[in-house]
Amino acid sequence: MTTTTSLPPALAARVTDLRSPSAFGSVLGDVRSDAIALTGGSPALEALPREALVAATATVLADAPRAARALDYSAHQGHAGLREWIAAREGVDAGRVVISNGALHALSLTFLATVDPGDTVVVEDPVYPLVAKVLQLAEARVEAVPVDADGLDVAELERRLEAGLRARALYVVPDFHNPTGRVLSAGRRERLVELAELYGFLVVSDNPYVELRGTGDRLADLDLSSDRVVHVNTFSKTLGPGLRLGWAVLPAAVVPGFLDLRSRLDQHASSLTQEIVAEYVGGGAFDELVAAASALYRRRAVTFTDALSEALGDAVAVSAPDGGVFAWPRLVDDRVSVADFARSAAANGVLVIPGEQFAVDSPDAARHFRASFGQQNKETLVEAAARLGTAYAELETT
Ligand code: PMP
Repeated sequence: MTTTTSLPPALAARVTDLRSPSAFGSVLGDVRSDAIALTGGSPALEALPREALVAATATVLADAPRAARALDYSAHQGHAGLREWIAAREGVDAGRVVISNGALHALSLTFLATVDPGDTVVVEDPVYPLVAKVLQLAEARVEAVPVDADGLDVAELERRLEAGLRARALYVVPDFHNPTGRVLSAGRRERLVELAELYGFLVVSDNPYVELRGTGDRLADLDLSSDRVVHVNTFSKTLGPGLRLGWAVLPAAVVPGFLDLRSRLDQHASSLTQEIVAEYVGGGAFDELVAAASALYRRRAVTFTDALSEALGDAVAVSAPDGGVFAWPRLVDDRVSVADFARSAAANGVLVIPGEQFAVDSPDAARHFRASFGQQNKETLVEAAARLGTAYAELETT
């Protein structure tokens, strides 16, 4: 049989055109075998309701009609009872709630359903990198607006809008932003929604850490009575990312298109997982769970940042975030490369992520690193900080 040279390639251009950001693993070099990983954003196993989930699973499967529902196909929009529970917490009609396979899935569906190729989407700089990848898939043009101590710099956004910037959507993590841990101030939340209405863009608020406030009062969420606001959230940080369960609260006009798209991709989130989580939250223990988890992460935040300040002294600027699981320390001396520090840290047995991995344009992000304290106990966090101190000292002497 003869072959031709014009056989089609195995992969579609949609995939081969994706630009691959630098692989984080290759940045770190040698890693000590007993390394403490401060890299992930996962919750601590001891903060998750294991026993209650065992009980909820048994309850769901022991009841034949319920088991039949849990093991069958179900509605595209999601489990009705779970949507009602979410809608009551978010203060919206359940018709606006769609259950997804986690927050990232809800974000992908939202951007693919509302942004055309070539449209501009505003993101925070630094940004949660997986969303930057989703925007690549949606063929969006990315406009980066810096984050400062009060979160996204909304005044800077306003200046650019006044100067002619036209955006289709904006992505923001209002509470305990990944990676900086910062909180968008109340005034900026209000102004952002006003700007969205004035200029006609969609504000996509992604708030997976909002329940994990360790200190201070919770701020009001971005105003969902505006038809320019989407809320995305997830059970990943409270019940476990392995459940792959999250949701979007959408403007009513967006729901049908979002579900049309969804029906062509995955149909619906796992019926079984939704039944189990509906059973769990229906038991009324969710608020108690997140209060205990928030207190645990708060203790860990203070332990880690205090220990880091002690280990690195004036070389580091760090404070405990008010919630979430990320510290965002800054190396004060500009002559010290944070990438070199992360490599030295890996060799000394601690994995952290250099800030440049989250940067779009921001030169400031490259002065920071992200360290997740959520999954490690007190002793491990103190040990990690001591190793980071050694890593810094070795860097200074080489
Ligand atoms: N958004 C942000 C800001 C996150 O930090 C994460 C998890 N690291 C996600 C979304 C993804 O959440 P999920 O696992 O529910 O998809």
